[in-house]
Amino acid sequence: MVRVPFVALHLQHRAVRAQLLAAVDRVFEHGQYVLGPEVEEFESRFASLCGVPFAVGMSDGTHALLLALRALGIGAGDEVITAPNSFLASAASIALAGARPVFADVRDDLNLDPEQVAAAVSPSTRAIMPVHLTGRPADMKRIGAIAERHGLHVVEDAAQAVGATLDGQAVGSFGAAGCFSLHPLKNLAACGDAGVVTTSDRKLADALRVERNHGLRGRDDCGAWGYNARLDTLQAALLNEKLPYLGRWTAAKRQIAARYRDALGDAVAVPEDGPGEHAVYQTFVIRADRRDDLQRHLAARGVDSKVHYPTPLHLQEAAAELGYKRGDFPVTERLATEILSLPIYPELTEAQQDAVVDGVLSFYGRRARR
Ligand SMILES: *Cc1c(COP(=O)(O)O)cnc(C)c1O
Repeated sequence: MVRVPFVALHLQHRAVRAQLLAAVDRVFEHGQYVLGPEVEEFESRFASLCGVPFAVGMSDGTHALLLALRALGIGAGDEVITAPNSFLASAASIALAGARPVFADVRDDLNLDPEQVAAAVSPSTRAIMPVHLTGRPADMKRIGAIAERHGLHVVEDAAQAVGATLDGQAVGSFGAAGCFSLHPLKNLAACGDAGVVTTSDRKLADALRVERNHGLRGRDDCGAWGYNARLDTLQAALLNEKLPYLGRWTAAKRQIAARYRDALGDAVAVPEDGPGEHAVYQTFVIRADRRDDLQRHLAARGVDSKVHYPTPLHLQEAAAELGYKRGDFPVTERLATEILSLPIYPELTEAQQDAVVDGVLSFYGRRARR
């Protein structure tokens, strides 16, 4: 049996291991573990990748979101609209900023439905936080238009979408701020926690640099309490070595996605690249009948899969005080019963990809066309 683990992080560094170790060694030599030169170098490279003038390294994606909201002045009494089918941190960052997460339902593409966003706007709304879930860009044109009409900020949760573009424009460059996670399971992966915020606004970038570093404006001068939420020099050094490979790795994932799409499209609903969309497939999420049985069938054949995410955010206990109930977001709630993430990473062998395809098709009594 060909085993297909859901992730195999140890494989990614094999080709670049010597480079990574040399980069770590250089940090050992200069010893600037906090805000060393590698952090600035990474910020400037990441800003270029996203086509914006500024990027500010953060300790992780959650603090990227939280500090971006705070730097935009969002807090108590404010509402921020986001998707209920995201990772916890989308809602948590809003709540931790002191504001209220307001959910709007999504479309079958798993991203915010602009009509639902428009309907969720209230006099207290200050921002919209679209999530580019699975690495597929949200409908930024229509979301941007709603934000403009109501004078709202757009804060992109681009945690899953490093390198994704829409009509040639990089995610992270559409809103006031683009917030990325560089967690080991994300497309551009540090060896631990890391994150970054992109922006075209110099003042916002400056505020984020202060906010991530205890609120320090100078060596000993603090205007307002801040966080310790800096990107580590060591992580930046590793990311600088990995960044040049991102395009290659993404291309390999897109190739596997195309293969899955062709092979599975008759049996299950598969993610498409919509017009102008260049998705990066952080995850490859199918929508399947009898999803739980399919997952067990795959597991019995050695193919791991996951559900991202089984419990919508509005139904989490943490969200109880927001007053939502089952039935409030019917598309999200239905999707939670249908979605299944299949293994997708550049190092998947042909035989492993075949095992995934055969596993899904055999469940539905179909055979692969080869
Ligand atoms: C991973 C993730 C985050 C949080 O990033 P961390 O680096 O883990 O803090 C936020 N939003 C989404 C959609 C994510 O997938």
